[in-house]
Amino acid sequence: MSDPRAAPALPNIPPAPAIPGFTHVYSGKVRDLYRDADGALLFVASDRISAFDWVLPTTIPDKGAILTQLSLWWFERVADLVGNHVLSTDVPAAVAGRAMLCRPLAMLPVECVARGYLSGSGLAEYRASGAVCGVPLPDGLVDGSRLPEPIFTPATKAALGTHDENVDFAAVVRTVGTADAEALRRLTLAVYARAEGIARERGIILADTKVEFGRPAEDLAAPILLGDEVLTPDSSRFWPADQWQPGRPGGQPSYDKQFVRDWLDSPASGWDRTGPTPPPPLPDDVVERTRALYVHAYEQLTARRWT
Ligand code: ATP
Ligand code: MG
Repeated sequence: MSDPRAAPALPNIPPAPAIPGFTHVYSGKVRDLYRDADGALLFVASDRISAFDWVLPTTIPDKGAILTQLSLWWFERVADLVGNHVLSTDVPAAVAGRAMLCRPLAMLPVECVARGYLSGSGLAEYRASGAVCGVPLPDGLVDGSRLPEPIFTPATKAALGTHDENVDFAAVVRTVGTADAEALRRLTLAVYARAEGIARERGIILADTKVEFGRPAEDLAAPILLGDEVLTPDSSRFWPADQWQPGRPGGQPSYDKQFVRDWLDSPASGWDRTGPTPPPPLPDDVVERTRALYVHAYEQLTARRWT
């Protein structure tokens, strides 16, 4: 939200509920952002789910709360590496548990991705060019391979309805300058390394993750802070370590929207993801299994019960 747009009229994104004392400023595919009288940002995670760049017409119960609690948990675990935008979790009752009060940041317009394993758009780029975001990789890697070392694979933030585009480091330098580009790479890889280690102890592979950074809007000389959500199944690929099998047909099992994507792509949905028609509602069993995956990811990573 580096340019705070007015609430956009977007298909599939329902109007954000009014919250007394707050002004709605933006809704993305998943989050609704509000401001309070002091200018603090209320960052509300909805239960919306997106897939194939569409917001689905069905919500996943508790998803917003699970992702917010997981984000808060991770913010603490990387706090010695980089500060973050969280001010407080003391939020209006209507959004309790799924919102955080945050410092408004001037976001650096780079989707900062770290990858330790090859999958998704990284795999597609590797197959086409042998490199990802300009980082050359050894021959012979397959879907799910562990990389020789984690790499920084930035992307430009796309306008709604379009795909993010992978870019090389030089493009990041052109966008934010050398000093900030180097800081983004260093911080992203540090956050990834910390989180990958913690997840591994809990039997989960953190294959890749996307983070966003910014600076306090009122002090652009201040150090870079971590913004947005962090290390959730929406921003990361989490794989059960005991089922990891590089080259596995269909990719690794994953603690995210796997059931949703699989169902949408199956004949059962009757939907063509390459066409202009919005996706259909999800059946109850897909909703239930998806919710269970999010709960499971939360419980396994944090060793806390979801209540
Ligand atoms: P989408 O995820 O639908 O592609 P989006 O990323 O713009 O679009 P959300 O992720 O739902 O939408 O909303 C979060 C938005 O808030 C993002 O644009 C993100 O860059 C921005 N943001 C995150 N933290 C802050 C912050 N502290 N101050 C200002 N903007 C922020
Ligand atoms: Mg986002």
